[in-house]
Order: sequence, then C-alpha cells, then structure tokens
Amino acid sequence: MLTPPRSQSPLQDLLHRVGEILAKPQTLPTRLNAALKIIAQEMGATTSILYLLTPDRYLEVYAVYDAITPHHKKVRFRVGEGVVGFIAAIGKSVICDNIARHPNFLFRPGVADHVNLSLLGVPLISSQGIRGVLTLQNPPSNPFEKWREKALMEIGTFFAELPELKRFPFLNSAEGKVSGTHTLQGISFNPGIAIGTAFLHQPYSWKETDFSLNIKDESLRLKTAIREMVEAIDRLVEKTPNLEKNTQDVLTSYRMIASDRGWVRKIQEYIQKGFTAEAAVQKVRRHTRERFAQIGDQILKGRLTDLEDLASRLLKYLSGKDSVSEELPESAILVAQNLGPAELLDYDRRFIKGLILEEGVHTAHVAILARALDIPVVGRIPLLLTHVEAGDKLIVNGTKGTVIVNPDGDAFQEARKSITQMKKWQVLNKEGSDKPCKTLDGTSISLTLNAGLPIDLHHLEEFDFEGIGLYRTEIPFMMRSSFPDVKTQTDIYRDIFEHSKGQPITFRTLDIGGDKIVPYMWRVHDENPVLGWRAIRVSLDKPAILRQQVRALIHASQGQHLRILFPMISELSEYQEARHHVEQEWARAQQSHLTLPSSLSYGVMLEVPSIVDQLEPLLKEVDFISVGTNDLFQFFYACDRTNPSVSNRYDVVSSSFLNYLRRIRIACEEARVPVSVCGEMAGKPLEALALLAIGYRSLSISGPVAGYIKKMILNLPLKEAEAFLSKALETYSPSLRSSLLTFAKQHKIDL
Ligand code: PEP
Ligand code: MG
Repeated sequence: MLTPPRSQSPLQDLLHRVGEILAKPQTLPTRLNAALKIIAQEMGATTSILYLLTPDRYLEVYAVYDAITPHHKKVRFRVGEGVVGFIAAIGKSVICDNIARHPNFLFRPGVADHVNLSLLGVPLISSQGIRGVLTLQNPPSNPFEKWREKALMEIGTFFAELPELKRFPFLNSAEGKVSGTHTLQGISFNPGIAIGTAFLHQPYSWKETDFSLNIKDESLRLKTAIREMVEAIDRLVEKTPNLEKNTQDVLTSYRMIASDRGWVRKIQEYIQKGFTAEAAVQKVRRHTRERFAQIGDQILKGRLTDLEDLASRLLKYLSGKDSVSEELPESAILVAQNLGPAELLDYDRRFIKGLILEEGVHTAHVAILARALDIPVVGRIPLLLTHVEAGDKLIVNGTKGTVIVNPDGDAFQEARKSITQMKKWQVLNKEGSDKPCKTLDGTSISLTLNAGLPIDLHHLEEFDFEGIGLYRTEIPFMMRSSFPDVKTQTDIYRDIFEHSKGQPITFRTLDIGGDKIVPYMWRVHDENPVLGWRAIRVSLDKPAILRQQVRALIHASQGQHLRILFPMISELSEYQEARHHVEQEWARAQQSHLTLPSSLSYGVMLEVPSIVDQLEPLLKEVDFISVGTNDLFQFFYACDRTNPSVSNRYDVVSSSFLNYLRRIRIACEEARVPVSVCGEMAGKPLEALALLAIGYRSLSISGPVAGYIKKMILNLPLKEAEAFLSKALETYSPSLRSSLLTFAKQHKIDL
C-alpha cells in the first residue's frame, strides 16, 4: 500500500502501473475499472469511482471499483449537485470524514449505498477544463489523511490528460461555479425569511509597516485614530435614535471596549518598543486571538469578534479611511465569515434584509443586534464563502436555519408565501385581539408572552396576553460588557413592571451557560456546555449572583405580585436551596423596611428529566410549574438542540414525548399546581394543538406568533382533539405530525 511519500517514487510507480493497465487491448471501462482497483488498494480505500462529464452537464459514473458492493448503477449528478457535482463546480478537492455532514450532500441510491462514508474526491483538471471527478470512499472509521488528497489530485490530473478521455466534454472555468439551486444548512440565529442578493462583506484592509523611528508621532496617530473611532461610534448611536435601549447598550459596551485602557495601553506599549501604530494594533490583535484560542470556548468567540471588529476599525482610521463606501444592492443579504456589531451598523439598514455567517454564535452581539433590528440571521454555515458569490440570489430562512442559493421559481414562490403569511400573522395579532381566547367549544386558554429584549414588550400592548409567562433575565446580562449591579438590574425590572401594567410577570432567574454566555462573568471550559455549569447551577455556586438578582426584583416590584422561576432544576434540593436564598433576601428587605412585593410565588422549570421524576414532592412545595420543552426535549432524546445534524431527528409530537408531557400535566393537575408550557413548541400551531389536546391550558409564546396560535385556538374543537389524540397516543409512533395535520384539515383548522 502507498505510504506517505518521502520521495515521489511510490506515486510515480503507481501511475506507471496505471499506465500499463490502460495500455492493454481491452474496452475503456474495463481498463478503467482495473485501474481504479489498484488505485483504491494503494490508497487504502474500499471504493473508487470515476465520474465523467456528459454533454448535458451531468457527472455520470463511468468506472467503479468497490470491494464491498460490486454492483453500481449509472448514477449521475448535475454540476453543482451533491458533493460530486460540487467538486466539479468549484474545481477543488473535498475531504470529509462523514459525507452526510457535507452541506451539499445528496443521497442517490445506487452508488455506495451508505450514507455514512468518509470521502476524498478530486476534480479531473485537464488543460481544457474539468472532465470529471475521481472519488475514494471508506467507512467513517477509516478517514482519509491530507497527504492522500495531494496524491489523488496528481492521479486526477493524470486521468484528465489521458488521450482516451479527450473525447469527453469538459467544463470550462466560466462554468465552473456552483450552479443551480442548492440549500445550505446552518443554525438559526434569528428567525424570519428574507429574499435578496448576496453582498460579500469585506473586512477592512491596511498597509503593514513594522517599525517607525518616530515613537511620538505613532503614539499621537493612535490617540487620534481612537478618538475618531469612538466619535464615529457615538455618531452611529445618535444617527439611530429609534434603537432599543438594549441595542444602544451593545454599542455603549462596544464603545467601552474601544476606550478600554488595558487594550489601548497594550497597543501603546508596542509603539514604545518601536512598532508603527498599525503593527502594534495587529500585535495586540494576534495576542488576543491566541488568548481566546487557549480558552478554547467556542461561545466566547462572540466577544473575540467585537475585539477583531474594533481592531479592523482602528486600522481603518489609522489608514485615513472612515466610511464603508460599498454600493449595497436594494435587498442585500450580507454574507460574511463573521461580523462585529458596529460593522453591521455601518451598513444602511434599509437595504439589509438578511445576514448569513460562516462562523458566529447566536449569543454574539451581532446576532442580538440583528434581532433587535428584525433581520433574519443564519450562522455557522460550513463553507459558506465557497458556496456563495456576490450577486447570487438568496433566500434566507432564519427560522429553519437554511439558505437557498440561486433558488428556482418554486422556492421563490414558497418564500414569498411565507413572507405574506408572516405579515398576515402581524395583522392577525391585531384582529384576534378583540375576541376572548377560547376554543370552538368554549374552553378558555391562557396565552402569555415570552420576553427578554425590550423590543418584545410592545407585544403586551398589541395582543391580549395575560402577562409575561417567561421573562428571560439573562438577555439583558448578555448585552452588557460588565456585570449589572443591583441598581442597574432594579431599573431593568422596574421598566418591565411598568410595561406590564399590573399583569403577572414570571421572572426566570439567570439562565446563563450552555449557549448563553456572559463573557465577563466566568472562565469555565465545558466539554458539553449544555450539560455543564449553567442556569441554577451557576446561581447556587455563586449565590451572590442570585441574591443580587432577587434583591433587585424585590426592589423593582414594590407592592406588586412577584413570580420567580428557577431554570434547570435537576434535584428537589436545588429548588429548596434557591428558595432559601430568596427567603433570606425577603427577610433582609423586611428588616430594611422596604416596600415588599404584595405576594411572592415560586416556580420551577421542568427542563431536566430527573426533576420530572421528583414531581410528587416538588409539587408540594412550588406554586407553579413551567415546562421548558426546548431543553426537556433535548435531554429526553439526548439530542443537542443546536446541532443541525441531529436537531430534526426526533419529533416533539412523537407519542413518547407527548405521553411524557401528558403525565406531567396530570401530576400538576392532581396536585392543583398551575402548569404552562413555555418552550418553542407552544408557539407552533400544530404542536400547540397537540399540547391543548393532552390537557395543557396555558401556553407562553413569543409575540410575533400569537395571532396565529390564537387563530388555531378559536377554530379548535377541543373535545374532539382530545379524543383523537388520546386514541392516537395508545399506539407507538415516532411522529404524529401527519395524523395531526389530517385532523386539522378535517376540522378546517389552518395551521
Ligand atoms: C426551554 O428550555 O424550553 C426554555 C424555555 O428555556 P430556554 O429556551 O431559554 O433554554
Ligand atoms: Mg431552557
């Protein structure tokens, strides 16, 4: 077998043997099949396939060697379609440990009929153009190393120039871009749908000159540039007076980093050593990158992006350019590897319809800003910048976390339909408001709001919500660059009380950790952050955090009813401990003769199966229960909700999960403890229908979907839905989705 080449000779030897086989007096497919056999064997692969281009621009299997499945069909892929089509389209090799994870993966029965494969594929690049693709495959347990990629590239070139293949068509470089419609899968950072034209964000560039003899001048240049930069950020804030307070906070915290003494001092130190201001900025930038790399925490990259953005910005001011001068298309979808919050604000927001990122985390400031600005965002799209070119037509589905590149007519039509639908929801929000929220057969359903950003609060005025069922207190924490003190927290909570005009608000104590990072608070590297140090675990280990938060809540809720909800409780004792902290704060406020809340209720989020198992004793001690189906579902199925390869694998409307939720509801009802569902499933009509049919009467949902959920409720014959689902749940089914859809259709419920 071929070993990593120390000299060229093993590869030359292989090519020589391939040449001999090809010289035999046999048909071309027979000779090529035999050549593929020795290539596969020498390259340590079970399978090798040669695809050649057809006149109608397909890549068709022409020769195969497969040690496992000897018979293959004449499978074909359009150029740009599937991984094989992708290799031909971009004219570059692809190496992946699991082909199913490649964003262009397309399953075609007939060739290497297993989805789980490691693949190495190279284009056959001749002097005229690309003639085809040569692939090697292995089980995922035996992936291909980098050196094999190089060797296969050479073999590919050897094939491409074979006189026997000259009669086959080729793809010239002009055609060589990924053509046709293809869908990229990423992660939803902000829901919504947008149609537009790709606009590639260009990070700022600068001239690099390492040393300067004039330290004074360099130092002055730096100071001037920083001043100009901070002033420009100030102007950005002023220019956008309608920005929500939290959005302003992001910019303010961003400005704080910009004038952060430590950061500026480090740059000055390099200038004192004789570096130019530009070189000094770059050195500090590299140093910061290295520090972040050592921390190794994916999520902290959001903060790194801010620092990167500032460094680029500063370099731009040092070079004397002070504005983003690019011409934006009218409906632009901003395409970037990553982006800082101020970089986003540099663009004219009237033209930015969507944002897609190759990297990013959904808690990064840029994602939070995009949310406040109502721009759909999809992040973490593998190889985004290879797939998308400036000017491509794109459909961004921030709800599903997908991007369709160069969509066909059907995709456009569907996207437009969804956009119209969303607009209708907004109208419905207003129209449905007048009617009492009752099912067709008269059962009252309580709808409350899920909130976290100030922008969410206007929904309280536009829809007849019965208060806030879930206020995610961590969101204001995530928007800041330092820990908010008791006074700051009190102001935030007081604002919410004022908006809610006496309606109940359920404040969930800090649910940080997992994918919600508060970078200034701790440095813990969790291998599995969602299973790690998060939510109540943080609050109990650092009780000062919980105490201060409760203190602020008590201060803010003067004379009003206070509802406190604890997230991620896994053991009854955790609830008892958390409650004890609240009681102590209450006693402290009493001693200080402060105006106390009129009453206090304690709630627990059911998000971890272990606490569901302790419901009986728990229900004796709590005032209300909130079922967090987002987390509960991921722990129930051991299925990461943020991992696109598994997040759609199981269904929340499976018989097992619905039965589980039904048992929870029955236990709460028997104990006379009010229960509601606040996970995302409550905000989706079909799922909400299922929840009502298993007995839930209270749902907490996000503002934009309220009209749609209410419409479903108004049209729902609840008794029939209950009978239908109770029967359906008697038999095992991984998904009751289609039966629920049929039920809805039969009863003319528009989902
Ligand atoms: C949940 O887990 O269902 C929930 C509402 O909490 P979050 O989505 O904030 O984790
Ligand atoms: Mg949760």
